[in-house]
Amino acid sequence: MDALEAYIVAAAPGMDILAAAWGKQEGELLEMGASDTDAREILGLAHIYFGPTAYTAMQAAARGSRHLLSTLRMIERYAQRLSSRRSAWLLRKELCTRGESAAQLERRARELVRELAVPRPPSQGVRLTRRARAPWTLTITGPSDLVAQLSAAIDPQSPLDSVQKIFFGGGAGSAPAAATNVIIELDQLDKVVSGRGDEVTVTMTNGATITGAELARKRLLEHGYVTLIHPLEGPVNLYRASRHASRKQRLMMSAENPRCAWPGCNHPADSAQAHHLKAWSRGGETNPGNLATCCAYHNGVNSDDPLALTSRGRLERIAGKVVWIPPWARP
Ligand SMILES: [Zn+2]
Repeated sequence: MDALEAYIVAAAPGMDILAAAWGKQEGELLEMGASDTDAREILGLAHIYFGPTAYTAMQAAARGSRHLLSTLRMIERYAQRLSSRRSAWLLRKELCTRGESAAQLERRARELVRELAVPRPPSQGVRLTRRARAPWTLTITGPSDLVAQLSAAIDPQSPLDSVQKIFFGGGAGSAPAAATNVIIELDQLDKVVSGRGDEVTVTMTNGATITGAELARKRLLEHGYVTLIHPLEGPVNLYRASRHASRKQRLMMSAENPRCAWPGCNHPADSAQAHHLKAWSRGGETNPGNLATCCAYHNGVNSDDPLALTSRGRLERIAGKVVWIPPWARP
């Protein structure tokens, strides 16, 4: 048996090694011939899997692992990336109880870190970044409706001039480019009107959200139009939209979907396109019921043909709501 074979055959399950190390001092491991970094790492892992924790059930399940020590080290590298102890234990438990190759486990570890990591909300305030030779940067972080309003007051044609005017000129900025619309569903309106507005979150077409109570305080009309959405029928036609009432139809469309209707897309309605659910080229009409907010990109990839075999799916109106139909859900 050469040294390589001896090493591979001698590799005992990592958990057995940790169990034997638990309770020992670093000096004892050094005397046994361990390097100082190895000794520290083994004792650290032993403390995790055998020491006190609030998550004893997950710890006990993870101890049944037959993985090699190198695999437990890999798992710990990913567990350490999670800020919550509970998430770290969910990751350890799942990976320790899976009987897969180290490479497969590492792939799953990467997925788990993505799933379990909670993005820390950025702290609110105004930050200045000073650079020796490059331009400086002022960053404003705050409630979405405030920042959306500040941003709307800036003239996109000459943003720096208009910011300077707002800060020092004493006057208000230029008027927002598009009127922001506030969306309330009929059943939510009941709550706002009856004073239970804190239970309701309304979304504005500039992409920001505020509670119904805040909205009532700010007075509905300050925010522009109010459009009613029926929970089953979709937009309620308040404006008797005729063939040519396209601006109002657009308002109703963005009221229904304040952001791109494609799942996961945050593109705000104010700069999105009016998408025909039944394609214009296939006889679809320009009516609120046939319109959906869609960013230019998703309008481009939306499949006009409901039977297309190779596609990214399409938007449809089902039971009053605009939903994304995946390509594999063809009738
Ligand atoms: Zn989109």
